[in-house]
Amino acid sequence: MAISETNYTNINAQLQPKGVTLVAVSKTKPAADIAALYALGQRDFGENYVQELTEKQPVLPADIRWHFIGHLQSNKVKYIAPFVYMIHGVDSLKLLQEINKQAAKNQRTIACLLQVHVAQEETKFGMDAVGLAALIEAYRSNKAQYANVLVKGIMGMASFTDDQQVVKSEFAAIRRLFTTAQASLNDTAFDTISMGMSGDYALAIEAGSTMVRIGSLLFGTR
Ligand SMILES: *Cc1c(COP(=O)(O)O)cnc(C)c1O
Repeated sequence: MAISETNYTNINAQLQPKGVTLVAVSKTKPAADIAALYALGQRDFGENYVQELTEKQPVLPADIRWHFIGHLQSNKVKYIAPFVYMIHGVDSLKLLQEINKQAAKNQRTIACLLQVHVAQEETKFGMDAVGLAALIEAYRSNKAQYANVLVKGIMGMASFTDDQQVVKSEFAAIRRLFTTAQASLNDTAFDTISMGMSGDYALAIEAGSTMVRIGSLLFGTR
């Protein structure tokens, strides 16, 4: 399946005036498709699976910023720590500590987003407001121990539904969690709200998203 240059151009035209970053989600798609989008200027790519990412990374240009957007098990951090740019799914202190440890081993700093759960759908992943506040406080009060991670913001997903009101209110809830976390951290580096996918990115941007993760509109259905 070829990439859609038309969609890429249209999406960029919507994002660029607002300064929203596009992460092109390339999971399950071949390296050739990533190279094609790279040739159009795209540099941020998102992957969900550790093994797939570690296979693609060495065969693609070194200046790609790789975003890990899937669920990451602590014991797999070491495989992506040498090169990953940002990890979106941090939902426990244990995972943040392991990312810090593996980043230090590689003499790197890895950007992290804290994953929150606001959607109606049941999922094991993402923190509620209480869990988020606890993680933020543990990080804030002990920053010297986290010298190799940079906590940049929040990541979240809305429900898969055609009901725009539900999606809107969930994005608004993610934004409120971000604002609260930002106030308690008081850190200008904490500036990223990663929300919005192919089906709902326009609503996400209206709600204040600064980073969208778009796959199927660019690479075709999976
Ligand atoms: C797959 C995926 C996306 C992209 O989804 P599309 O609907 O194809 O745009 C975005 N975020 C996460 C976390 C994903 O797993």
